[in-house]
Amino acid sequence: MIRARAVAAFRERLRGRLVGPEDASYDTARRVWNGRIDRRPALIAFCTDEMDVIASVCFAREQELVAAVRGGGHNVAGTAVCDDGLVIDLSRMKSIEVDAAGRSVRSEGGVLWGELDRATQAFCLAVPGGTDSDVGIAGLTLGGGNSWLMGLQGATCDNLLAADVVLADGRRVSASSTENPDLFWSLRGAAEILEL
Ligand SMILES: Cc1cc2nc3c(=O)[nH]c(=O)nc-3n(C[C@H](O)[C@H](O)[C@H](O)COP(=O)(O)OP(=O)(O)OC[C@H]3O[C@@H](n4cnc5c(N)ncnc54)[C@H](O)[C@@H]3O)c2cc1C
Repeated sequence: MIRARAVAAFRERLRGRLVGPEDASYDTARRVWNGRIDRRPALIAFCTDEMDVIASVCFAREQELVAAVRGGGHNVAGTAVCDDGLVIDLSRMKSIEVDAAGRSVRSEGGVLWGELDRATQAFCLAVPGGTDSDVGIAGLTLGGGNSWLMGLQGATCDNLLAADVVLADGRRVSASSTENPDLFWSLRGAAEILEL
C-alpha cells in the first residue's frame, strides 16, 4: 500500500510522467523486450533528468518499495521491471555529447546503441557496443558487453571512463579511476585482477 498523498507529492516533484495501473498507457508502459515478462509494478516513473532519478530513488526508499531501473528494457529475464514496486524508467533521458578531440562520448542512461553509433559515427568514432541497435547502452555495459569490435578494443565495460551514479540514499556521486574507484571497479564488472 502506498499512501495517495505520498504518490501525489512524488508526482508533483517529478518533471517526467508517473504511470500507474489506473492509466490507459499502463500495459504499454510496463512492457519490456521479452514479451513473456508480465510484471505489474505499482508505479512507473518516466524520468527526464538526474533530479527525477534522485526523486524516484528517494521515493522508493521512503515507501519501502522494490525498485527496478529500466534502460533499453532488453534484459531477457526482465530485471528492468518488478511486481508491486517502482520502475525507474530512463528511456526519455537521451542526451549524447561527443568529444571528438578527446575521442570520448558522454550520454544519459536511456540511450540505445543505434543512437550512440549514429552520434559517434558522424566523427568517425565508435564505441565497442552491442550488435543489436535497440539494446540499451547502460544495461549492456553493466553486463560487460560483447561486440563486433571486441577483438580490437575489448569489452564495452573496458571502455567505460566514468559514470554519474545515484546511490540508494539519493546522493549523486561520480565514479572513475580517480573518484570512488571501488564503485567504478564494480560498475565495470568488478573483474580486474587485484594487486595483492
Ligand atoms: C536482441 C538482443 C541482442 C543483444 N545483443 C547483445 C550484444 O551484442 N552484446 C552484448 O553484450 N549483449 C547483448 N544482449 C544482451 C544485453 O546486453 C542485456 O540484455 C542487457 O542487460 C540489456 O541492457 P538494456 O539496458 O537494454 O536492458 P534493461 O533490461 O533495461 O537493463 C538490464 C539490467 O541493467 C539494469 N540497468 C539498466 N540501466 C541501468 C542504469 N542506468 N543504472 C542501473 N542499472 C541499470 C536494469 O535494472 C537491468 O537489471 C542482447 C540482448 C538482446 C535481447
